[in-house]
Amino acid sequence: MKNSSEVAVVGGGIIGSAIAYYLAKAGHQVDVLEAGQVGSGSTQAAAGMLGAHSEFKEFGASLYPFARTSQKLYEEAESDIRSLTGIDMERRSGGLIQLIFTEEEKKSMRSLFSSLKEVAWFDNPTVTKKVPGLSKAVSGAFHMVEDVHVKPEIACRGFHTAARMLGAGINAFTRVDEIVKESGHYLLRTSKGEWRADRVVIASGVWSNSLLSRTGLGTPIFPVKGECIAVTNTQAPLTCSLFHDQYYIVPRNNNELIIGATRVKHDWSTQPTLGGLQTVMEKAKKMLPEVDKMPFVRSWAGLRPQTTDGKPLIGEHPEMEGLYIAAGHQRNGILLAPATGKMICDLISKNTVPEEWKEAFRVDRLQTCEEIWI
Ligand SMILES: Cc1cc2nc3c(=O)[nH]c(=O)nc-3n(C[C@H](O)[C@H](O)[C@H](O)COP(=O)(O)OP(=O)(O)OC[C@H]3O[C@@H](n4cnc5c(N)ncnc54)[C@H](O)[C@@H]3O)c2cc1C
Repeated sequence: MKNSSEVAVVGGGIIGSAIAYYLAKAGHQVDVLEAGQVGSGSTQAAAGMLGAHSEFKEFGASLYPFARTSQKLYEEAESDIRSLTGIDMERRSGGLIQLIFTEEEKKSMRSLFSSLKEVAWFDNPTVTKKVPGLSKAVSGAFHMVEDVHVKPEIACRGFHTAARMLGAGINAFTRVDEIVKESGHYLLRTSKGEWRADRVVIASGVWSNSLLSRTGLGTPIFPVKGECIAVTNTQAPLTCSLFHDQYYIVPRNNNELIIGATRVKHDWSTQPTLGGLQTVMEKAKKMLPEVDKMPFVRSWAGLRPQTTDGKPLIGEHPEMEGLYIAAGHQRNGILLAPATGKMICDLISKNTVPEEWKEAFRVDRLQTCEEIWI
C-alpha cells in the first residue's frame, strides 16, 4: 500500500480528531492514522469536565487563557458539528461546584479565585439547595459556571465524523512505526504499508515517546493512571459536576454518575484495582453520601499523558520543518482539544498564533520524564 496526504495526523484520540476537524474545515487534505479504534485511548476513559477554573492553581499564566479559549471554541464546535453530523456531544450547562469542608480550604481557595469573576461563592444553604443529598459536612462551595462537561467519546466521534464529512480520511488500525524525513516530504512506515505526507502531526497521547525520541525530543511523557466507577443515580438528578481534592462526580444524560479518579504515576496497566476503586468511593461518599447505595454499573482505568511541567507539547519540531507535535495534555486533553486543534491548524496555515502560547508549549523544552509531581 502506498498512500499520501498533505497532512498525516498520527493518533485518533480527541486531540488528533480535533486537529483533523480544524484542518479539514480550513481546506487542508488530512488523514488520521490510528493504531486501534478511533477514540479508544485515554479519551474514552475521561470524565469530560472542561475545568478551566477547577484544574489550575494559577490564572495569569498561558495555560489558563488557552483553556478559556478552548471552552469558548467548544460552544462553536459543538453547534457546528451538531448541524453537520447530528452528533450531540452532550455538552451540558450547570458548571462545576468545588466543595469546601474547612475554613482553611475556604481561605486558600478564596485567595486563589479572588480575581476571577467567573467563580462565585455559594454559602451552605445555597449549595445544599442546588445539590440534593449533599454531605452535611460541606460548609460552602465555589461555583464555576463555565466549567461545563461533555461526553468524551462522543465529543471525539463528533470531531472525527465532522472531519470525515469535510473530506478527511480516518484510518483505524493503522499504526505508525517510523517517521522518516525525505527530501520535501515525510515517509511514514505503518502497519499497513508506507504513507507519504507533506506534513505530520504526532498526536499519540501517552504513547508518543517512541516517535518523539526518534526525532531527538527525548521521552518527555509518562502515564498517570486514573481509575473510575459509574453508578446509576437513584436520587434527584445532579445538574452540575461536584469536585473536591481533584476527585469528582460528573452526571451523564443517561442518569449515570461518573466517579473518579485516582492518580497513579508510571503505571501502564489499564485494569482498575480494588484499592483504587475503594479510594474513589471514599472520596465520592465524602461529597455525596448516597452514592454508597447506588447500583454499580462498571469500573475502568485510563492513562493520562503527563509531562513534567504540567503543560502539553504543541508546536513545530525545531529542526524538522513540517513535523508538529500535539501531545501530553495530562488531565485536560478533553478541555484543551479545540484550542490545540485550532493552534496546530493555524501553525500549518501560517496564521497568527499568540507568541506566549508558542513559547509555553514549545516542543523541545522537556527532554525526559524524570519525576516531578505536578
Ligand atoms: C480517568 C481519567 C479521567 C480524565 N478526565 C478528564 C476530564 O474530565 N477532562 C479533561 O479535559 N481530560 C480528562 N482526562 C484526560 C484526557 O483523557 C486526556 O488528556 C486526553 O484523552 C488525551 O487525548 P489524546 O488524543 O492526546 O490521547 P488518546 O486519547 O490516548 O489518543 C491517542 C491515540 O493515539 C493512538 N496511537 C498511539 N500510538 C500510535 C501510533 N504509533 N500510530 C498510530 N496511532 C497511535 C492510540 O491508539 C490512541 O487512540 C482524563 C483522563 C483519565 C485517564
